[in-house]
Amino acid sequence: MSDSVSWLPDGTPFSNRFGDRYHGEQGLTQAREVFVHGCGLPQAWAGAQQWRILETGFGLGLNFLTTWAAWRADPQRPRLLHFVSLEAWPVTADDLLRSARRYPDLLPLAQELLAQYWGLLPGVHRLWFDDGRVLLTLCVGDAQSLMRQQLWEVDSVYLDGFNPQRNPEIWGMETLKAMARHCRRGTRLATWTVARSVMDALTQCGFQVSKVPGLPPKRDNLQAVFDPNWQPRSRRQAPEFPRPARCLVLGAGLAGATAAASLARRGWQVTVLDAAATPAAGASGLPAGLFAPHLSPDDNLFARVSRAGVRAMLQQSAALLQAGVDWNPAGVLERRPAGQLGLPADWHDGPGSDWSLPADGARLAAAGLPADASACWHARAGWVRPARFIARLLEQPGITWRPNSAVARLVRNTSGLWQALDRDGNPLAEVDLVVLATGPASNSLLAPLGVAPLPLQPVRGQMSWGLQPAAAQGLPAFAVNGGGALMAHVPCEEGLAWHMGATFERDVDRLPMTAEEQAAAHDHNWQRLKALVPQAAPTLRPAFEGGQGLRAWAGVRCTAHDRMPIVGPIAPAALPGLWISTAMGARGLTRAVLCAELLAARLMGEPLPVEAKLAHAMGSERL
Ligand SMILES: Cc1cc2nc3c(=O)[nH]c(=O)nc-3n(C[C@H](O)[C@H](O)[C@H](O)COP(=O)(O)OP(=O)(O)OC[C@H]3O[C@@H](n4cnc5c(N)ncnc54)[C@H](O)[C@@H]3O)c2cc1C
Repeated sequence: MSDSVSWLPDGTPFSNRFGDRYHGEQGLTQAREVFVHGCGLPQAWAGAQQWRILETGFGLGLNFLTTWAAWRADPQRPRLLHFVSLEAWPVTADDLLRSARRYPDLLPLAQELLAQYWGLLPGVHRLWFDDGRVLLTLCVGDAQSLMRQQLWEVDSVYLDGFNPQRNPEIWGMETLKAMARHCRRGTRLATWTVARSVMDALTQCGFQVSKVPGLPPKRDNLQAVFDPNWQPRSRRQAPEFPRPARCLVLGAGLAGATAAASLARRGWQVTVLDAAATPAAGASGLPAGLFAPHLSPDDNLFARVSRAGVRAMLQQSAALLQAGVDWNPAGVLERRPAGQLGLPADWHDGPGSDWSLPADGARLAAAGLPADASACWHARAGWVRPARFIARLLEQPGITWRPNSAVARLVRNTSGLWQALDRDGNPLAEVDLVVLATGPASNSLLAPLGVAPLPLQPVRGQMSWGLQPAAAQGLPAFAVNGGGALMAHVPCEEGLAWHMGATFERDVDRLPMTAEEQAAAHDHNWQRLKALVPQAAPTLRPAFEGGQGLRAWAGVRCTAHDRMPIVGPIAPAALPGLWISTAMGARGLTRAVLCAELLAARLMGEPLPVEAKLAHAMGSERL
């Protein structure tokens, strides 16, 4: 997948695929003068809530780094910078670093970029910088088809690519037409080429084109403004909330806390209400949980959603949590049925292998498994203590958290505002937007509004856990899953703990579990543990068979009929301002952050963090 780059004697990067230089000595000046200034930046974005830039060739990332640096330096910068960049042949991380070394001012930013520049399989990848205020959406694949499939509205376009003679397609009419679909009237475009064919095609696509003085030795550059003589036909729906307002999030679990943080980051005033006295009182109260990608040999939607979710989770956890205390992204070993590793065929090397690989002998041995055991190693995975994550999310500026606030009913008043009422009909809050993140309880709030029940299924589960004995022999340093999941060496208030989960009881939502049910669930977890990590059994036998220090934690998951999350508006025509993020299933830690970012992006008409197809598969509209 990677483009092969050669380095010329003068240090210039050269694309072997296209037989052309990336940029010469003047790379940085070109990025700044031709693209950033060429689009009227930074002045054009001054005071804006958000700014969205589309670039047609990511290359060595220089335009992105230069724009990010300009954003950082500008006291008038927009609250959020979206940079969407297309790239058919991502360069290697080494080449990216080598290029950045030529510009010491940009090197610290390049290093941050590199830390997230991995696993770039075909598709859309959301990279997250400066606490989520600079969002790079790196789209890997053919520019024309990507631009046809996605639906963005951008404020600036950097039209970049190799020489039109070397790579004519990127400058061709069809590509430019696809690009113009993402422009609003007034979108500014800049490029270094003044090829007649490009100027003509842009004009035909509705741009007012002008030549401007170029960077010597080039005489001219090109700038353009999208201002067609016709009314552009937009397939985009106007966003429900182009600007932030007041929002109520119902539910202080993973879905609610992540949604609150994503909205607050965008300037919303968010109040989070929960019936309970503490956050994470529902399913999200589990003492420790796993996040990991899902595998399918044909890399289905479920697998792709899980990877986007893991990436999003890694970014926000790294920003908020303390490694080794609140979470441990040290990887997860997944046991698989013999002969069914589940890895797509072309994943042994390249970007797929950054995610998951057949487990090697050392990892199998560390889990006490024979060298021929069937297992995968997920390098980008680990355990999290969800309550710690939720607490950090709720501390973010712009969020007010209110415990003991059970909402009995939602009503929309005549001025179009939503009120949350308690059992006695007293208003708890009045807002422009309500986000339901109430898990299995969601339908009880929707029914009085006349909304048909969502296809949600409660799934009760119990995890067995306990404090580790001093000699925790046989407990692997990393989590192991596949037929249950074992997480050990997880700090808790009393020391280090192990956790083995979990049971699945569909259509059961009764809590607490009876003593008999608890005992049966422990036994279920014990049988699975013995099969999953046999070497851990001697250490945990006194707990499971003798009841020594054995503890139970139970909760009710909320799953949709198709096992996908549900994110989006409930009934935009009839009930505007009522949105939902739920059905995290058994994977709230893998999904919640992604769902929150998707919800915020959809609400505000931003570039989505995933392909349109994946967003649709998670969308509330599919129901
Ligand atoms: C045993 C078990 C093991 C699990 N293991 C893992 C794992 O390893 N990895 C993983 O990713 N996931 C795991 N999960 C799943 C994960 O816990 C869920 O996906 C996730 O917690 C769901 O989060 P949520 O915010 O949607 O729901 P919840 O955490 O249930 O939050 C809903 C909140 O809404 C509040 N609420 C409800 N009604 C009202 C109302 N009317 N007014 C005000 N507040 C209200 C509730 O009090 C609750 O706090 C596990 C779940 C269980 C049960």
